[in-house]
Amino acid sequence: MTIRNLILIAILFALPGISMAQTYDIILKGGHVIDPKNKIDAVMDLAIKDKKIAMVAKTIDEKEGKRVIDVKGLYVTPGILDIHVHVYYGNNMDQGLMDGPSSVQADAFSFRAGVTTMVDVGSSGYRSFPKFKETGIDGSQTRVLAFLNIAGEGMRGGPFEQTTKDMSARRAAEVAKKYPDQIVGIKLAHYSGHEWGPVDSAVAAGKLANLPVMVDFGGATPPLSLEELLLKKFKPGDIFTHAYAYFPDSRESVIDENGKVKPFIFEAQKKGIKFDVGHGGGSFRWKVAVPSIQQGFIADAISTDLHTGSMNGGMKDMANTMSKFLALGLSIQQVINRSTWQPALIINRPELGNLSAGTEADVAIFSILKGDFGFIDIGTDKLKGTQKMVAELTIRAGKIVWDLNGLAATEFKK
Ligand SMILES: [Zn+2]
Repeated sequence: MTIRNLILIAILFALPGISMAQTYDIILKGGHVIDPKNKIDAVMDLAIKDKKIAMVAKTIDEKEGKRVIDVKGLYVTPGILDIHVHVYYGNNMDQGLMDGPSSVQADAFSFRAGVTTMVDVGSSGYRSFPKFKETGIDGSQTRVLAFLNIAGEGMRGGPFEQTTKDMSARRAAEVAKKYPDQIVGIKLAHYSGHEWGPVDSAVAAGKLANLPVMVDFGGATPPLSLEELLLKKFKPGDIFTHAYAYFPDSRESVIDENGKVKPFIFEAQKKGIKFDVGHGGGSFRWKVAVPSIQQGFIADAISTDLHTGSMNGGMKDMANTMSKFLALGLSIQQVINRSTWQPALIINRPELGNLSAGTEADVAIFSILKGDFGFIDIGTDKLKGTQKMVAELTIRAGKIVWDLNGLAATEFKK
């Protein structure tokens, strides 16, 4: 350090009003913190320093913050994890969700709904993953993780997802092991056929790579046995997505014809099989969700199945999907748990979905509007609700990436 620099520093310290004592980059003051991992559910302050959570405490002195944001009356939660999206966006018009126009850009939909981590489930396969990593993962501010499709091309549509010849457990496991920072599971989706081969390949890949497997049960006539999938094929930790879908002709539902949740569903959940909402454009029906929740069958992870076929329908976004579970009777604490800490555990990333000191500072701040709201499923049925979650402020790695009402801005003076 030169003498000149030393003198400059000395002057800075001496100047009135310029203090070097501020410890934290951001302090969120007076919000209702819900952090299920740490069993916090109270009005607390939260401090961020160097892109990490510094502390959550009853009171943190505002003088310690370079930036102090008043979040009274709002909920402060870990950054939301949406573990079912499709964000392998590209301009290959005939490739569907794989580097095609049916996927969406992660950053265009994440922060505005409080989401800081998205898990793309199966848009890419072992052959198409490297390009997805380059464009969809490394090119996003949102933390994007992936389940690798057992079909080599991923969700390229039609024959690409139906050919069992291109499903290789060995190759999928090899690619998954090569990219452990990004690949958190194996996916099977959209397969139509009355055979177990594709499920067996995905399960084998999951075992080889030591990763959970997520199955979208596709279609079969007559339907394949859901009990066999959950209790015989799956290992604890594997995930059944589209939990509240209803396709009576081609896919077995979790409820019977009288609306009763089948006993083996509870048995599977008790054994550690995980259930994911995966709302999507065709996979969430009130006629399944309402009786399921009433009888105590609650999915472990709330997720959107975001793509161009769901975003403008009943699903809309993650905040709206979470609001639907408030309308179904879950508490805000249950909803946050199933959108933060539980999904983090499902993808074996316990460093995510919580506000422990030292973790990367991903934070979501919500208001809950009270009023008369209507929530549509994937058909034409509407469930009325009185609460709607709105993402007010989203912080990703200590940076404010979404601020709906200028909570962190200074007031303009004429
Ligand atoms: Zn999907």
